[in-house]
Amino acid sequence: MSASQPPASQTPQTPETSETPDVPTLLVKIFGKDRPGITAGLFDTLAAYSVDVVDIEQVVSRGRLVLCALVTAPTAGGTTEGELRATVHSWAESLKLQAEIISGTGDNRPRGSGRSHVTVLGHPLTAESTAAIAARIAAIGGNIDRIFRLAKYPVTAVEFAVSGTETEPLRTALATEAAEIGVDVAVVSAGLHRRAQRLVVMDVDSTLIQDEVIELFAAHAGCEDKVAEVTAAAMRGELDFEQSLHARVALLAGLDASVVDKVRTEVRLTPGARTLIRTLKRLGYQVGVVSGGFTQVTDDLKTRLGLDFASANTLEIVDGKLTGRVVGEIVDRAGKARLLRRFATEAGVPLSQTVAIGDGANDLDMLNAAGLGVAFNAKPVVRRAAHTAVNVPFLDAVLYLLGITREEVEAADGEGAEH
Ligand SMILES: [Mg+2]
Repeated sequence: MSASQPPASQTPQTPETSETPDVPTLLVKIFGKDRPGITAGLFDTLAAYSVDVVDIEQVVSRGRLVLCALVTAPTAGGTTEGELRATVHSWAESLKLQAEIISGTGDNRPRGSGRSHVTVLGHPLTAESTAAIAARIAAIGGNIDRIFRLAKYPVTAVEFAVSGTETEPLRTALATEAAEIGVDVAVVSAGLHRRAQRLVVMDVDSTLIQDEVIELFAAHAGCEDKVAEVTAAAMRGELDFEQSLHARVALLAGLDASVVDKVRTEVRLTPGARTLIRTLKRLGYQVGVVSGGFTQVTDDLKTRLGLDFASANTLEIVDGKLTGRVVGEIVDRAGKARLLRRFATEAGVPLSQTVAIGDGANDLDMLNAAGLGVAFNAKPVVRRAAHTAVNVPFLDAVLYLLGITREEVEAADGEGAEH
């Protein structure tokens, strides 16, 4: 909130109010039970002294209000600061409110350089972890200028507006702390680009959905143990993805194509997936998926969820049977990053305004290429390399990293929460 020169009042302040830091000002703080009309009453009381508003902040927590008004001190017309104080206190007492008036000069002090948003997700958020995060911010010279709650559901999410330290060292310091205390912390630099993120691209298996699609196919082919073994090794980064893809798909040779429809119905969306996508779409984002799995499933998800983009590998089907081969361009680790770039180009969005979400080693290039890479319930190797990590099992928690509040989610969604 910035100071601005209000329209001329009965006793006009000199135009240099906003440029003169030493103009006398009064900080009026009102505390007490919230009810309609308090702001009207306070400013009606102050209006008798022809003061101008420099800043107003209000917070209501569990029905208690803290209202801070920074106003110019009365300067003319024979009124005095003492009279103003007496009148405000008398008005406050009549409403059983507490008032405190502090004399001083000028506006809020300017915020320090280096500004970041720090989002903390806890499930629950404990006092101990809040203390640890705040202490780490202070230890590297950061000041917490503002704090507010983004969400209480399905996780407690709070945002700290921090200044006085650059974003990168803050992110590094808090990533270490977060890992130690088991909360999720995201640090993004403040600025317009945060409001300009326009494309979100997600991995599918174990990110958008709870399953690994090839394992669903494998269950129908009776080879789930063999496939799961290869998948696990690939996800740990121990195997070349393309080789492991071919090896696993080969195990499906001869499977009836009708299994595709069965697998589509077996896929379980991750909790919060619909809320995430619906909210992003309503806020004007474009949303895509890239998968090392199969178009036979991602095309269906694209239709069901109203996605803008979807790309994956395609299982070859000949004469109603899976051949055990894939056709077309292989979507692997490099392929996912390439597709993120392609979707960004098609969406007309620079890469710096993209968000990528994934859990596996084959998502790393995509997470690094995006403006914000979010490791979602990821393996440690992925978590360490991503810009930020979400370790609560709700995909809509990603919204809070983008600064979107639960209130905004529910306002954008007349039907309310899905959980
Ligand atoms: Mg995955």
